[in-house]
Amino acid sequence: MQCHYCDREAAYEAESDGVTVGLCDEHFQERVEELAESDELAALREQVDVEGPE
Ligand SMILES: [Zn+2]
Repeated sequence: MQCHYCDREAAYEAESDGVTVGLCDEHFQERVEELAESDELAALREQVDVEGPE
């Protein structure tokens, strides 16, 4: 999957309004900072945990 914001390969997937988008490391960090005080961050973290190794 490609990053939603640039042409790099996505390192993370995040669901927003029912649409799954890819995020590279850099843009993932930007989104985390943007969402730092919102409920969306928790949802994003859950997605990453599901994708990560056990
Ligand atoms: Zn990106």
